[in-house]
Amino acid sequence: MSPEPRRERQDEEVRFRFEEDEEEEREHRVPPERYPIELDPAHIDADAAKVVQRLVRHGYEGYLVGGCVRDLLLDASPKDFDVATSARPDDVRTLFRNARVIGRRFRLVHVLYGGGKIIETATFRKNPAPEDKVTDDLLIRDDNVFGEAFEDAARRDFTINGLFYDLERGEVLDWVGGMPDIKARMVRTIGDPVVRFLEDPVRILRAIKFCARLDLGIAPEVYDAMVSCRGSLAMAARPRLFEEILRLMRGGASHRSVWLMWETGVLDVLLPELSSYVSDTQEEQGSTWALFSAVDRETKRRGRPFDDIVLWTVLLLDPMLEACQGATDRVETAFEFLEPVIDRLSMPRRIADAVRRIVAMMPRLEGGRPGRFSRTPLYELAQDVALLTRSARGLPPAPGPANAERAEKGADRASTDHAHADRPGGSRSRGKRRT
Ligand code: ATP
Ligand code: MG
Repeated sequence: MSPEPRRERQDEEVRFRFEEDEEEEREHRVPPERYPIELDPAHIDADAAKVVQRLVRHGYEGYLVGGCVRDLLLDASPKDFDVATSARPDDVRTLFRNARVIGRRFRLVHVLYGGGKIIETATFRKNPAPEDKVTDDLLIRDDNVFGEAFEDAARRDFTINGLFYDLERGEVLDWVGGMPDIKARMVRTIGDPVVRFLEDPVRILRAIKFCARLDLGIAPEVYDAMVSCRGSLAMAARPRLFEEILRLMRGGASHRSVWLMWETGVLDVLLPELSSYVSDTQEEQGSTWALFSAVDRETKRRGRPFDDIVLWTVLLLDPMLEACQGATDRVETAFEFLEPVIDRLSMPRRIADAVRRIVAMMPRLEGGRPGRFSRTPLYELAQDVALLTRSARGLPPAPGPANAERAEKGADRASTDHAHADRPGGSRSRGKRRT
């Protein structure tokens, strides 16, 4: 058979499929639940509001979406403000002088404002039907295709992340059942949790992040799916895992995050070195758990997260020190310990080398004998680690010029550490781990 007629037939089939799909979509399109809610304008980023207003003035749909709507409804402060619109990327760019189109696979627009602020403005998109993912010359290869608002809501991960806010009318538009979950303070996937976690296993870590950071519950079937799908994390893109673990550590809820990772068995997959260590660790002063509480306490006090090197050192410190105990060559032992972690999570060499050096120096730092190390750029970060280990033991920062201010502020706080209060559910005891 010559290639021409075959191609024509395929063309025809695809055309019919698209027409059928569109018809089906029209049938499935349901109006959203609308919730009149006047969000305090003082809490809404004025530039994000400007972006939405200009889109709407030019006849497009434009909404605040995702994390910012969730955080505002939960009385938390949003990290950034995202906009979703019916306007195509090129249309958005022509509306804003200060805009640039980014991304190759899915193009979205960054509208830039002073102080490096970016309002990410994305055209509504939908998840393609499974058969559209088939690689074929005539079919869409991208994961992303433009769609409508209701489809854009459905492609998101959790119901609390799928809400749209109409600034003009002061209404939350809900196609995914997000508002009841906001009210119940509950993390629930949009659709079958097993399907959604297998589609993108990083969502398991995102569930942990929202639960820990915003103090939310997890719907039981979602929790069960986190447990049963945890093995799929080993197949996820390693740099995304590396970054998502850092996000868990940065947000001021590292204790709760690690505890949930441990309880769900996620920690066995991502950091078995830490998992087996904490399984044998009691919740007491000076323990790894107390160290995570110290990270959270200090992060809140400083109002900004610790450096990535400090956070990775803290995560691996106790298991690494244990491995190094009695070793003749501590640097070599630390090296061997980290190799599988580097491989499993694509940890950049720069970070791994720094972690290794800080851990190897810890006994000297704690003994107040940093020597030449005090003249290296890592010294400041190592001081942060030392501050956290002391705080975990209920001790004030070690005296010294760099720590004078810390000593004043940290002393009494360090001794009032109630690590248990940081756990999700408050009273769940270790040992109830689900496997
Ligand atoms: P944060 O406050 O940590 O930024 P966020 O919810 O805003 O939380 P982002 O990573 O900024 O998270 O993503 C913005 C929005 O994009 C999310 O609210 C969600 O609707 C959607 N999203 C992000 N990651 C995924 C994913 N893996 N799968 C589906 N939707 C996602
Ligand atoms: Mg965000």
